[in-house]
Amino acid sequence: MAIATINPATGETLNTFEPLTEEQIETKLEQAQQAYELYRKTSLAQRAEWLNKAADILEGDRERFAKIMTTEMGKTFKSAIAEVEKSALGCRYYAEHAAEFLADVPASTDASHSFVRYQPMGVILAVMPWNFPFWQVFRFAAPALMAGNVGLLKHASNVPQCALAIEEIFQQAGFPSGVFQTLLVGGDKVAAIVSDERVKAATLTGSEAAGASLAVAAGKHIKKTVLELGGSDPYIVLESADLDAAVSTAVAARMLNNGQSCIAAKRFIVVDAIADEFEKRLVEKFQTLKVGDPMNSETDLGPLATPSILEDLDKQVQECVTKGSRLLTGGKPLSDRPGNYYPPTLLTDFPPGTPADQEEFFGPVALLFRVANIDEAIQRANGIPFGLGASAWTTVEAERDRLINELEAGAVFINGLVKSDPRLPFGGIKRSGYGRELGIQGIHEFVNIKTVWVK
Ligand code: NAP
Repeated sequence: MAIATINPATGETLNTFEPLTEEQIETKLEQAQQAYELYRKTSLAQRAEWLNKAADILEGDRERFAKIMTTEMGKTFKSAIAEVEKSALGCRYYAEHAAEFLADVPASTDASHSFVRYQPMGVILAVMPWNFPFWQVFRFAAPALMAGNVGLLKHASNVPQCALAIEEIFQQAGFPSGVFQTLLVGGDKVAAIVSDERVKAATLTGSEAAGASLAVAAGKHIKKTVLELGGSDPYIVLESADLDAAVSTAVAARMLNNGQSCIAAKRFIVVDAIADEFEKRLVEKFQTLKVGDPMNSETDLGPLATPSILEDLDKQVQECVTKGSRLLTGGKPLSDRPGNYYPPTLLTDFPPGTPADQEEFFGPVALLFRVANIDEAIQRANGIPFGLGASAWTTVEAERDRLINELEAGAVFINGLVKSDPRLPFGGIKRSGYGRELGIQGIHEFVNIKTVWVK
């Protein structure tokens, strides 16, 4: 894949970048290693000062950063502004809490003095996706850098200017040279980079194929990985739910980021008693959404990030329809304009064997499943290889407790949409990956948990 900025709203190539040569990669790896030797000795207070400065830079120049995102991957400008602000929040959160999260933990043993100490691991490689091109990077970098590690970013090839802007933010914030570097390389270089002895661990957010390929290369060299992969999150609505809230949140939960979020609600699992009403209201709401220029503040839904995402999504929709599923609205690319536009789409009544059974739909397509009761709802929700998030709507306490306990997911949100929050761990189970980002758990992924025993 070429490293280039191609505006998804117009199809226009705005900028292309040469991938780094082998020699340039070697130089960056060496710089990272040398930076680590000094950086690991800096104080937490000093790192926090730099990270807070990074937050100031993000907030101070939010419109410029947001525009780069919208131009490279098509999210609406207003949501890009919110993403810049959330990235700043993530920096401030770890600047404030890292000392507490990384403090020695005393243990009572047969030693005169024993405790656990958290120490940095070294150079960490982050392979990141384009869909939240700032937030994904900051939620890796803020805890990793606070813990004393050094970061190497291999960003998605369609967001090179985001990658370069983030490198510049860390430099301007005062982090020593080499502490955070962007590597403009394709996915084909990742295995070699993670195999290099200077790289101690890696994290990847993206597809299952990319995650598996990174994990194989890292595993060969006995290196830890964190994988945040795909999902097809259920959104369960039971009879006692507040239907107004469940329907309006459903629209946001599915359409957020032009439908391209790993934790978007993708499968709407609704009990028969309210399914017709839910379906009717969701169709109405989908039809009122404004699809168009992502820079326009009135726009609800911008273009998909690349033509191939649009093609893949449309193929899945067409296969569902051909096999007999019912199309309630949308279902065809918008061919009256340039750019990768797909309308809000709702499908239901799937015969066995359609992509709705097991696949992730990465775009503004909602799948509606009718179920008889909570047992069937849980069975349907869990009957998929993924386990990222789950949202469920009920006001009955016993149902709530069952959903919390029985849904196979890294997160369960009751009466709300699944979201990431620096204060809460984020990650999946099953084929959605392993390990956690954010919260105290996120900062503990890339540390040596050293046991100390003294007599
Ligand atoms: P992708 O193709 O896997 O790309 C993600 C990153 O991996 C990019 O930097 C990409 O580089 C790189 N990559 C691709 N193939 C690779 C390989 N064989 N070895 C190493 N690196 C490789 O993912 P995508 O399709 O753009 O992103 C969408 C997927 O990400 C969805 O499944 C979504 O659910 C998931 N996602 C998960 C989370 C989460 O937190 N769980 C968050 C966001 C997205 P190039 O761009 O150079 O190919």
